[in-house]
Amino acid sequence: MERQNAWLTYDLKMQKECHDFAENYRTFISNNKTERECVDSFVNEAEKEGFIELNRAVAEKKALKSGDKVYLVWMNKSMVLFTIGKRPMEEGLNILGAHIDSPRLDVKQNPLYEKNGIGYLDTHYYGGIKKYQYVTMPLAIHGVVAKKDGESIVLNVGEDEDDPVFFVSDILIHLAQKQMDKKMSQAIDGEVLDVVIGEKPVVINADTKRAFKTKETLSGKDAVAKALIEILMENYGIDEEDFESAELEVVPAGKARDAGFDRSMILGYGQDDRVCAYPSFEAMLRTKDPERTAVTLLVDKEEIGSVGATGMQSHFFENALAEVMNLAGQYSELALRRCLANSDMLSSDVSAAFDPNYADCFEEKNSAYLGKGMVFNKYTGARGKSGSNDANAEYIAHLRKIFDEEKIVTQTAELGRVDVGGGGTIAYILALYGMNVIDCGVAVLSMHSPWEATDKADLFEAYRGYQAFLKDASFRNF
Ligand SMILES: [Zn+2]
Repeated sequence: MERQNAWLTYDLKMQKECHDFAENYRTFISNNKTERECVDSFVNEAEKEGFIELNRAVAEKKALKSGDKVYLVWMNKSMVLFTIGKRPMEEGLNILGAHIDSPRLDVKQNPLYEKNGIGYLDTHYYGGIKKYQYVTMPLAIHGVVAKKDGESIVLNVGEDEDDPVFFVSDILIHLAQKQMDKKMSQAIDGEVLDVVIGEKPVVINADTKRAFKTKETLSGKDAVAKALIEILMENYGIDEEDFESAELEVVPAGKARDAGFDRSMILGYGQDDRVCAYPSFEAMLRTKDPERTAVTLLVDKEEIGSVGATGMQSHFFENALAEVMNLAGQYSELALRRCLANSDMLSSDVSAAFDPNYADCFEEKNSAYLGKGMVFNKYTGARGKSGSNDANAEYIAHLRKIFDEEKIVTQTAELGRVDVGGGGTIAYILALYGMNVIDCGVAVLSMHSPWEATDKADLFEAYRGYQAFLKDASFRNF
């Protein structure tokens, strides 16, 4: 079966809408590279659209009625939004779920050291990366440093043109004989991915422009590290001990860019899974007065197994839903369970785009292609679908009808050839409630690399598809 190319279905007006949407997306992923930054930005947008904070609604005992909009943020890193529908929630929700964490280098808790006159921050990589892709490129540091007095210092260094950047060095080719003979997986050791942050053993006072000495003399042992500590204190109010309670993420520095002479693609960091999170969120904002209650989940920790209090395995969603049902006068333990079991979900996550240069990793008929629209993965997993949520045929038929009616361009795929690898998403976790779940998102080329590529029409089809899904209310019984 041949799949349609989404671009061929667009008239000039649609092409413009597609490029405009992609431009907003490009700005979003350029400005929001961590889960915390995504949450902050989504909260600001949601509040402008009339969403109110769930805890506030609970405190005020606000009676929620159809059309009302609430959101809950969990530990600044995950969030869920609800738009109350006309039907009783017991009949189920329409849920979109994407993740907003991406692979990167995390700064360790005791990170600062100096070696042979160079100052470093020690890191531990987060999620699945090819370590060699993170050397010799400009890096930025984003995150928070939580102080003992309750203050949180927000850090974002390396994105402004005037900001300094950071980097991980690599051995020059002339001396790389030993490294080049290694297997690729071993060429760069995980402990070598430490970020160079300075090498000057003095601190220049910003006002007087004169070198000054600190309480201890800066010359001698660890002078560079001491100077760096001075700079951190002077510029950001951060002490060396404060790294203990910090979450600092090292990510590729710089903005996402249009790619290709035809500007058909976007090249940028963290598109897994923001290329699904962004259209999910935008579709949620556009969903007014739905029949079934519309929900969008934007969660943390997917890249390391959805664990922890802010991962999908946490109960924060179920707890939030119980509060929402309670405020809507619809809560009982049984109603909550029925609501979850009767819900439909699109696990909005990315799929691997077919790469002609690595064609042997894919099976052509069942691969996702750039430009061929929103991708469905009936199952993910590895080696005999192991660990996968295998979506129900009846549910897929139901979705085909919704998307065909709205003329959404879709394709189906699995992650690579049988037995060459595999992967997972949050789909199986929501499926634990007995609800219908399928993975549905955007194809990404060079997925999990520092600069991933996506197609703008795929992004736009996902956005249109997510809207069609959220507003659907067709009754079914299977
Ligand atoms: Zn991923």
